[in-house]
Amino acid sequence: MNDASGPADSAYLGQGEAARLRTILEGTRAGTWEWNVQTGETVFNERWAEIIGYTLDELKLISIKTWLTHTHPDDLVVSDQRLQAHFRGDTDYYECEARMRHKDGHWVWVRDYGRLVSRTPEGEPEWMSGTHIDISASRAYQEKLETLQAEQQRTIERLEKMASRIPGLVYQFEMRPDGSIRFPYASAGIARIYNVTPDQVREDATRIFDAIHPDDHAHVREAAEASRLSGEDWICEYRVIVDDEIRWVFGRARPDFRDDGRIVWYGSILDITAQKELEERLRQIAVTDELTGSANRRQFMELLSREFFRYKRNGPGYAVILFDFDWFKQVNDRFGHNVGDLVLKETTRVLQDELRASDTLGRVGGEEFAILLPDSDMDSARQLAERLRQTIARHRFEGTDATLQGTITCGVAVADPDDDQSNTIMLRADKALYHGKSAGRNRVETFRSSGNAR
Ligand code: GH3
Ligand code: MG
Ligand code: MG
Repeated sequence: MNDASGPADSAYLGQGEAARLRTILEGTRAGTWEWNVQTGETVFNERWAEIIGYTLDELKLISIKTWLTHTHPDDLVVSDQRLQAHFRGDTDYYECEARMRHKDGHWVWVRDYGRLVSRTPEGEPEWMSGTHIDISASRAYQEKLETLQAEQQRTIERLEKMASRIPGLVYQFEMRPDGSIRFPYASAGIARIYNVTPDQVREDATRIFDAIHPDDHAHVREAAEASRLSGEDWICEYRVIVDDEIRWVFGRARPDFRDDGRIVWYGSILDITAQKELEERLRQIAVTDELTGSANRRQFMELLSREFFRYKRNGPGYAVILFDFDWFKQVNDRFGHNVGDLVLKETTRVLQDELRASDTLGRVGGEEFAILLPDSDMDSARQLAERLRQTIARHRFEGTDATLQGTITCGVAVADPDDDQSNTIMLRADKALYHGKSAGRNRVETFRSSGNAR
């Protein structure tokens, strides 16, 4: 058999029409089949056989069995269902994708398409004709694509999962040559930080900027501009306001400069509010005296040093009041160490009320305190010290089972242009304090530049 036994010779096609069809079929490289549903008689063209690696001669005694034996059993089930539907008139044509066994052993994907051409006088399906085309290449391509898409989907899901574990979000931010901006991607975490959904921000990128703390707007934009110009990462710490609550975030994004002039930043934004609070807490602990809550010695000396250098750069004069409790050993001895502690705490509380916000009260020793008074001279510092002395002398400290009274002795010193170290003023205040103690306690002494306390 050969092509001559194809549709061109069929009883039901006119000669001209058959020739035209053959040309079309050759162009599409389609195999053709005709099948008498009643008798099982079939006619295939050469291409039909070639698709599965045979010549028609090799296939010999061709019948519907030739199709049945060369086709994957699973696909035959589907094929038969579709045929029956077509025979019943449920479908206008028959169509099916099926695997056929190639002569070499591998499977070839074939798209099988056909229509009933005639019925018997009883209405039973009789002649049917159709075509085969080899779709193996496109099936392979499609499968590859499906695998790739599945992999990509898995990658996206993995990334989303990772993103959901970080306290923040990952995103892509794009700036066009015309200056317009877009967020092609933002992970779900954006809702928590910016109070907008990924969809909302994809639609309107400017929504992001509404949540940024007004005081940090410029800072965020400047950092982005610096990244655009330098190609370095955008790194920025700033505040956002979500539901009237201020949160600290840390952003980092790497710019990618595209050939078409777009800049795409790939970045993450982390909620660092808890970390910021912890930082602040640690800083507080590092500078605070545990018992009294006033500045500790280290912090006091640090602030004194800053004041000293400000003064050296023609800043205003400043003063220090140093004071020590009188007979404090006796407080401990008579009432107990705990009561002594209460007195120190209470003193801090009472004196703090007498000071300006810019003054610093620090506990510089066991029961020894210092007060730094910026922008102050000897007269005002001495007057303040006197007021503090009286306040303490009048105060009734609540002990555990008795009220007690106590006094302090104060030494006052002011900044001197000849000082070359920040703590020199402390030595002078200490000298004045020492004089106060030996002069009878419960008094204020000032250090005069003669080198001795008055
Ligand atoms: P003076 O008038 O000369 O200052 O007599 P004083 O007894 O206060 O003597 P001094 O200042 O030399 O002694 C300080 C005492 O204060 C020694 C110690 O028992 C006590 N003290 C120091 N730090 C603390 C503290 O943190 N809590 C308590 N309860 N007592 C302290
Ligand atoms: Mg003392
Ligand atoms: Mg002391």
